[in-house]
Amino acid sequence: MADRDYYAILGVPREADKEEVKKAYRRLAIQHHPDKNPDDPSAEDKFKAVAEAYDVLSDPEKRQIYDRFGAAGLKGRGYDFSAEDIFSQFMSMFGGGFEDLFGGGMGAHGRRRPGKGRDQQVEVTLTLEEAATGIEREVTLRRDEACATCTGSGAAAGTGPERCPACHGHGRIAHSQGLFTITTTCPQCRGAGRVIKERCTACSGTGRTSTERKIKVRIPAGVDAGNTLRVGGAGGAGDAGAPAGDLYVVVDVREDPRFRREGDDLVHELALSIPDAVLGKKIVVDGILGSVKVEIPKGSQPGDAIRVAGEGMPRLGTRSRGDLWVRVDIEVPRDPPKAIRKLYEQIREMEAD
Ligand SMILES: [Zn+2]
Ligand SMILES: [Zn+2]
Repeated sequence: MADRDYYAILGVPREADKEEVKKAYRRLAIQHHPDKNPDDPSAEDKFKAVAEAYDVLSDPEKRQIYDRFGAAGLKGRGYDFSAEDIFSQFMSMFGGGFEDLFGGGMGAHGRRRPGKGRDQQVEVTLTLEEAATGIEREVTLRRDEACATCTGSGAAAGTGPERCPACHGHGRIAHSQGLFTITTTCPQCRGAGRVIKERCTACSGTGRTSTERKIKVRIPAGVDAGNTLRVGGAGGAGDAGAPAGDLYVVVDVREDPRFRREGDDLVHELALSIPDAVLGKKIVVDGILGSVKVEIPKGSQPGDAIRVAGEGMPRLGTRSRGDLWVRVDIEVPRDPPKAIRKLYEQIREMEAD
């Protein structure tokens, strides 16, 4: 990531809201998409710059880091950007439908591009502890995979896809109309340029079969409910020669009765007896990754919060952790035994003097 001005690239002011950023990206991404600009070699670079700018400015966390430390600051925190992300981002934003956007498919300058596989989604539910340690989880999904019989070609054993006789492999057919030549997508191969003479019986010529799979997914420490992880290429198989779709893992985190999560911080409510609140005490409480020593200062008040630095949730993608806050609640005995009541009476008398 070079140090560049993402706001200038998208042509939005620094205070632009999410919607403005999205609008600008939409417009520029379509304008500069390489498939729309086959004769302009700089279009791809422009497209990538626009996608990179959008990736950062549309993500509140990345944007905050960028505003303070620039693009180098993002890289320093392990955020990076790959060309692969750009296209999947574009696809997910436009619903995979750039054929519709650009009108009539990609065929205007050649064969139809083989389709990328379907993106898929699974959900995983973690305990708060698992979210704190990170975990490898096996998920089960049914996805399209390349047919084992024809290895994805769709053609019967011993045969292969052949050049389409109607268009001679061009995917387009030219019709002369007076002075003009009009080209249309080849109806026989539907633009693919290749046809299957004898279909594979196992997949009826689609080249894909639906298969149930168990996949191990590595969930990093610090995830929160609603986070989505992308596992590139783990979705459905694409057309022969095209990449597989991606797998999106949507994370849910169960509540833990011991803690309330506030971003990367954890809050633990502690019921303290009156003597402990008055005199102070060294205690041990449950932390999310093991027990934690806490020193309750004397004279603690209800609602006081004692900060235990670095004992909160891991910050996603970093080695640091949030804090644990021990919030003091004072437990007043409802009906103490006589001996204790006597002591309180003494205290009251002493304080009245
Ligand atoms: Zn097959
Ligand atoms: Zn054809």
